Amino acid sequence: MTADGEQKVEDAFTIQESDCCGNGCTNCILDNKPKPSQRALLAGKRNIILKYTRFRLLQRDSHKGDDQVLFLHFAADSDEKDDCVLDIPPGHHVMLRIGSLLRPYSPYWTDFASKEFKILVKLQPDGPMSKNLAAMQLNDRLEFRGPIGNYQHDPAVTKCIFIIAQGVAIAPTLLLVGQVLENEDDMSRIWHLVCSPDLQHVYFRDQLLEFAKYWNYRSCLYVPHQQCGSAACLVAGHCIQECDELRRSLRYKERVCLHRLDASELESHANPAIPGLRVLIIAGDSGFQQAMGEAAARALAVAQENVYLL
Ligand SMILES: Cc1cc2nc3c(=O)[nH]c(=O)nc-3n(C[C@H](O)[C@H](O)[C@H](O)COP(=O)(O)OP(=O)(O)OC[C@H]3O[C@@H](n4cnc5c(N)ncnc54)[C@H](O)[C@@H]3O)c2cc1C
Repeated sequence: MTADGEQKVEDAFTIQESDCCGNGCTNCILDNKPKPSQRALLAGKRNIILKYTRFRLLQRDSHKGDDQVLFLHFAADSDEKDDCVLDIPPGHHVMLRIGSLLRPYSPYWTDFASKEFKILVKLQPDGPMSKNLAAMQLNDRLEFRGPIGNYQHDPAVTKCIFIIAQGVAIAPTLLLVGQVLENEDDMSRIWHLVCSPDLQHVYFRDQLLEFAKYWNYRSCLYVPHQQCGSAACLVAGHCIQECDELRRSLRYKERVCLHRLDASELESHANPAIPGLRVLIIAGDSGFQQAMGEAAARALAVAQENVYLL
C-alpha cells in the first residue's frame, strides 16, 4: 500500500469528540474506537463499516400490535466496493448518523459476506432520530459506522453466562447466545433473563424457543404487567400464576414470572454448584443497567471485571 493509501485508511479510523452521540453510552465510541476486523483481514477484505458507509433499507416491519417498534433490515449500498465484508461482532453496536444527529443501535443479526444487518428499534415519542426512522421508506439510505464495544467471548474458557435483557435491548443478546450455542465445543451455559412489561412485548419469542432446544440454555420471562380480562386478574392488577388465559398463551417450555426480577429471584438463578467463570451481561437503558448492575453481580457472585453493560 502507498503512503497515501495508508494515510486514507488511518483517516477512516480517526475519532474526534464530534463522533460521540453525547448520550453518555457505557461503551462510548471515544473509548472504544472501531478497530480493523481480524476476521476481515483473514478473508483478505476490508470491514466496510469502519468508516461511515451508506446502507439501504431492504425491509421494514412493525412488531405485531405495536407500530412503535420496528424491525429494520439494511444492506450496504450497491455502490459500495466489492472488496469488503461486514463484521459487527456480538455485543458491539453501530452509530447511525443523519447530518449532525448521532444515535447508537445494536444489531441482532448480521451477515459477513452480503454486508447486511438488522436492528430492532423502539421509537421514542418526540425523539429526533425516532422521527427520521419512522419516516423511512424502502430503499432509503442511511449512514452507519462501527463496530463499537469491548465485549469478547473466548469459547475455550467454560463460563456461566447470565444475560439480563430489558425490552428491545434483548436484540443484541441474541447474537451473544447464538455465538455460544452454535459452537459445539463451547461448554458454557447461559441463563437468559428477559424483562418486559408483558408477553406481547417479549420480542423474538420463537428464537428463544429455538435456543431452548440446547442443553446449555435456560430462559425466564419476567412480565409484571401481563393482564387479561378475567375477574381475578383484574382484581390483582395483573395476571395471577393460575390464570388459564396466561397458560394458554405460553408455548412449550416457556417459563414466566409475573413479578419483577429482584434480588431474591436473581439468587434463584445463581446455581453455585455449576463450575465455570461467572459472567454477567446487562442489556438495557442506563437506568436499568444501574438498577440491575450491582444487585445482580452480588446475587450471582460475578466479579466486577466480568460484568458487561451493553
Ligand atoms: C449502546 C446503545 C445501543 C442502543 N441500541 C438501540 C437499539 O438497538 N434499538 C433502539 O431502539 N434503541 C437503541 N438505543 C437507543 C437509541 O440510541 C436512541 O436513544 C433511541 O432510538 C431514541 O433516539 P431519539 O433520537 O429518537 O430520541 P432521544 O432524544 O435519544 O430520546 C428521547 C427520549 O426517550 C428516552 N429514551 C431513549 N432511549 C430510550 C430507551 N431505550 N428506553 C427508554 N427511554 C429511552 C430518552 O431518555 C429521552 O427522554 C441504544 C442506545 C445505546 C446507548
